[in-house]
Amino acid sequence: MKYALLILLVLLLLGTPATLFFLSSSPVVEVTPTPKGLGVDNQIQVKVTSPHGMRFVTAVLTQGQARSVASKEEPADRWMFWKKHLAPTTQTLHVTAKKEQGFQGGPAKLVVEAASNDLRASSDTKSYDVFVSMEPPRLSVDDLEHIINQGGAELVTFTVSGYYTEAGVIVGNYRFRSFPMPGGKNENDRFCLFAFPWDTPADTRPLVFARNPGGQEVTAPFRVNLHPKKFRQRELDLSDEFLDKAVSEIDPGGTGDKLDRFLRINGEIRKQNNKTLADLRDQTEKRMLWTPPFQQLSNSKVEAFFADVRTYKYNGKKVDQQVHLGFDLSKVKQAPVVASNSGKVIWADRLGIYGNCVVVDHGYGLQSIYGHMSKIDVTKGQMVERGGELGRSGATGLAGGDHLHFSMQIDGVQVNPIEWWDAHWIKDRVLSKLSPPAASSAKPAEGAKEVPEVAPKQAGHTAKKHHKRR
Ligand SMILES: [Zn+2]
Repeated sequence: MKYALLILLVLLLLGTPATLFFLSSSPVVEVTPTPKGLGVDNQIQVKVTSPHGMRFVTAVLTQGQARSVASKEEPADRWMFWKKHLAPTTQTLHVTAKKEQGFQGGPAKLVVEAASNDLRASSDTKSYDVFVSMEPPRLSVDDLEHIINQGGAELVTFTVSGYYTEAGVIVGNYRFRSFPMPGGKNENDRFCLFAFPWDTPADTRPLVFARNPGGQEVTAPFRVNLHPKKFRQRELDLSDEFLDKAVSEIDPGGTGDKLDRFLRINGEIRKQNNKTLADLRDQTEKRMLWTPPFQQLSNSKVEAFFADVRTYKYNGKKVDQQVHLGFDLSKVKQAPVVASNSGKVIWADRLGIYGNCVVVDHGYGLQSIYGHMSKIDVTKGQMVERGGELGRSGATGLAGGDHLHFSMQIDGVQVNPIEWWDAHWIKDRVLSKLSPPAASSAKPAEGAKEVPEVAPKQAGHTAKKHHKRR
């Protein structure tokens, strides 16, 4: 009997650590986003997934004999850890690659490690090949005169040297991505199709930028001739009938005051819907899917212009103000809605205030948007030709009557589509700079003409109108 007690005691003494050892978990460590390169000073984000917390996390950067270490530690917990069920955390580590530490520009290795804060303290390690750049990239921008309409688009070409992971154009609060020149010698000859957003002050200077992963950024100005635009003011009287239709269709099952529900749709939901459209920028093809020009819904009546500022009135009182980011084109009920140019359908579904909505990607960040349709005849992923039928016009979403809401966006920023209906504007402002590569950079852009504020009735008339104006 004495022996049995002794054995039990020994088992207990040995068993507890064994159990605790068994209960220990394995962590997962990774750098997010995956680092491609580093600069002199870097804040790297290390994601640690470890239900028992983390004992330590380290990042070691090595390049030949050069070595720098960054780490964080927590007090060890060897006993009560099994009570913990912690969510993954993101740890910021300050990793340096200074000349004094022996680093120079070139390839290096980054190794991160994290250990679980439990008895076993097992660890996980990940290793990344990175490029260390000691100085910011350098930029050389074309010397063309860039004629830009506020709310419209423009294209700039430039060359980057040095190591960079991001390059494009900054306009106020907006950043537009660039792409390698089609047929260019290398990835460093680039172009950026960008917008001068309708809500950006006319005195804002667009800048070309390039940035390395260490956060070192260089910017360069370029010649800009900006044409400020005055956007129209419009008043809209809200009828009870319109409010009823809007709330029952866009906010079904919602409760509360009809006007409050409408205001939420017109404000918050409008914002969400525009964010959904903007996020489609990530689905763009890195090639040109279109040929000039873009086609306007033929024989249609223009009911509203791009960037009309709309004041909404209910029972004679001002209740809201929003900006209308497109053209409203009306024809007959259920008129065929056709693709303004060839491309790939990247959205074919309901979208809040836009009702049944189709978005066609034309490549390099350029996309066209069709809203309020009664019927959609295409599916996501489908390739369409210019003039190909996408469906029928209607009054779904926030629409009082049957019409097509048409808009275009560049890298997620909605622009005035009128420019894209104009073959001459496209040639001067876009195509002349893209082909053949760099050949056109010696001669200044011709035709400092302004795009008319009034939309042509027919796409076919656009070019003729411009000839007369010049
Ligand atoms: Zn509209």
